Amino acid sequence: MPLLVMKFGGTSVADLERIRNAAEKVRAEVERGYDVIVIVSAMAGRTNELVGWVGATSPLYDAREYDAVVSSGENVTAGLMALTLQEMDIPARSWQGWQVPIQTTSQHGAARFVDIPRANIDAKFGEGFKVAVIAGFQGVSPEGRITTLGRGGSDTTAVAFAAAFEAERCDIYTDVDGIYTTDPRITSKARKLEKISFEEMLELASLGAKVLQTRSVELAMRYKVRLRVLSSFDDTDETSGTLVCDEDEIMESKVVSGVAYSREEAKLTLVTVEDRPGIAAAIFGPLADAGVNVDMIVQNISEDAQGHDKPVTDMTFSCPVDQVARARKALEAARDAGHISYETLQVDEDAAKVSVVGIGMRSHAGVAARMFSALAQEGVNIKVIATSEIKISVLIDRKYMELAVQALHDAFELDKAG
Ligand code: ADP
Ligand code: ASP
Ligand code: MG
Repeated sequence: MPLLVMKFGGTSVADLERIRNAAEKVRAEVERGYDVIVIVSAMAGRTNELVGWVGATSPLYDAREYDAVVSSGENVTAGLMALTLQEMDIPARSWQGWQVPIQTTSQHGAARFVDIPRANIDAKFGEGFKVAVIAGFQGVSPEGRITTLGRGGSDTTAVAFAAAFEAERCDIYTDVDGIYTTDPRITSKARKLEKISFEEMLELASLGAKVLQTRSVELAMRYKVRLRVLSSFDDTDETSGTLVCDEDEIMESKVVSGVAYSREEAKLTLVTVEDRPGIAAAIFGPLADAGVNVDMIVQNISEDAQGHDKPVTDMTFSCPVDQVARARKALEAARDAGHISYETLQVDEDAAKVSVVGIGMRSHAGVAARMFSALAQEGVNIKVIATSEIKISVLIDRKYMELAVQALHDAFELDKAG
């Protein structure tokens, strides 16, 4: 039997009517002759509510219990989806992660897949079941505890099942009708792409475009999964949505393909640290040990350099706003232990990161200049810059984020097909 994976995100299963609507889409594929593995998210807003309850009960919570609570939203929708399909006379059953069992590492809150054994689900398909409904976002650790895969993780569950079961395609049903040149909520000029390369989607996702979880794109790239994003609210067929695929399948030849943003960023500067070999390791080692995801880093000449007998420098880095407290604690502990010294720690919690992405940048010069002048024309000041082969990111004041995304979308003429 040909097999499809269909994943429905939170807004697509937000209430019983929407679950029925999603089940109709599953029915259509079963009628076309497919066996279907359905991956469901929790109902919209439910995961946030569960995360809130955990934090309110225990600020420095036990991550194993966090996962026990936060994974539960998907269990509800998996059962309801199976019941809805049964009501339509489609033989279906639900599976929680541990029942498959979806084996993961034991990094609670950010677990990774180790193995998805097929036997249990294959046996059910063998008995005539047409649909296996799987609770997304979860698995089980070697210790037998429930794990979760990080926010947005149901996308990754879907791609991992598509790889394990050699699905013909992995369809990600969501509240937009495809992948756009930028988040369509930020500008109405955003244009839907027919196709996008794995590499560009990987960059866009890791730079903040939450339409797909980064890890899901990585897995799709590695296992050559045909990955498609489409709307659960529109009528759809094989040509709907956006296909994520290899570079050579794409006709567009734009230098920049998309603009991504990450709203909740912070900029931290250690003022007047000693300028000596090993200082970067002494600063970023403890931050890494504390689980701070340091992103951009700049070392600059200290404004305060004069009047010091030893050479000094300033070290600036960015990290997500919700990790500032942890970063501060790690740096203060390193200072108290005598491993580093600094005069002050300046913290700017009102930053955002805006990035342009495109494989065309590999062969075209001048992208950075065009980006910086577009921002300058809008009076947007750049705090930190980072580049790689196919992206340029800038850290700016959060209040200019939307403006910057719109200005860059215009500057690179992303509203026009190229
Ligand atoms: P789901 O609950 O279905 O997983 P998400 O909210 O995680 O949905 O992802 C879909 C959202 O991603 C869209 O509503 C849109 O606002 C946002 N998004 C960000 N960047 C893009 C982009 N480039 N193209 C499409 N959607 C994007
Ligand atoms: N429900 C989880 C979240 O909100 C996983 C997902 O929807 O992909 O992050
Ligand atoms: Mg999502």
